[in-house]
Amino acid sequence: MSELEIRKEIIEICLKMEKIGLNQGTSGNISHRYKDGLLITPSGIAYEELKPQDIAFVPFSDKKNFKGKYPPSSELDFHFDLLVAKPEINCVLHNHSTYATSIATCQKEIPPYHYMVAVAGGKKIPCTSYATFGTKELSNSIIKTLQGYSACLIANHGVVTVAKDLKKALWLAIEVENLARGYIHAKTIGEPVVLDDKEMDKILEKFKNYGLKKTK
Ligand code: 13P
Ligand code: ZN
Repeated sequence: MSELEIRKEIIEICLKMEKIGLNQGTSGNISHRYKDGLLITPSGIAYEELKPQDIAFVPFSDKKNFKGKYPPSSELDFHFDLLVAKPEINCVLHNHSTYATSIATCQKEIPPYHYMVAVAGGKKIPCTSYATFGTKELSNSIIKTLQGYSACLIANHGVVTVAKDLKKALWLAIEVENLARGYIHAKTIGEPVVLDDKEMDKILEKFKNYGLKKTK
């Protein structure tokens, strides 16, 4: 993809997140690897106002040396650190979707009450330890939590997903929100029955040949 195509796709996915209710206002941010750095949404600009030229470029060689009209997202640290730490991914997506964030405010993870938790690569959707937004401490906490996972809840804050492309990162964020909604609904009926380790091993094995994996 050309730089312009990536800039346009970042905006398209931001607008989609807003349209389907995963984010509103200036909540959340998106980044995409490009050449020797990353393209990232600017800080505090409403998605509907974003133009391709407003997306900032940050070189991996110098985090402070961004190119762009506006400064990069306040969450540059975790976007930057994830793209450096995980060469297998190209995109990082962050949102404050309601149900997932509600669970994150309890600093709880989503257990394997439904087999689809396996979409994030493991036996649950984990939750980070708490750290202030926009800090290196938050980045460290996310890096630690995302070991072996492609999605996690951020304590008292929201959700982050990582993927090879933005469509997959958005798909994952939608899945996490659906799982969170289902978990909260199930909790109003009783205590959801959690699938055991052996069953989750079986499911993770089946996921190796399932769905979006084919498009990689
Ligand atoms: P930015 O507008 O700086 O990207 O911040 C939004 C956000 O979600 C911070 O966690
Ligand atoms: Zn946020």
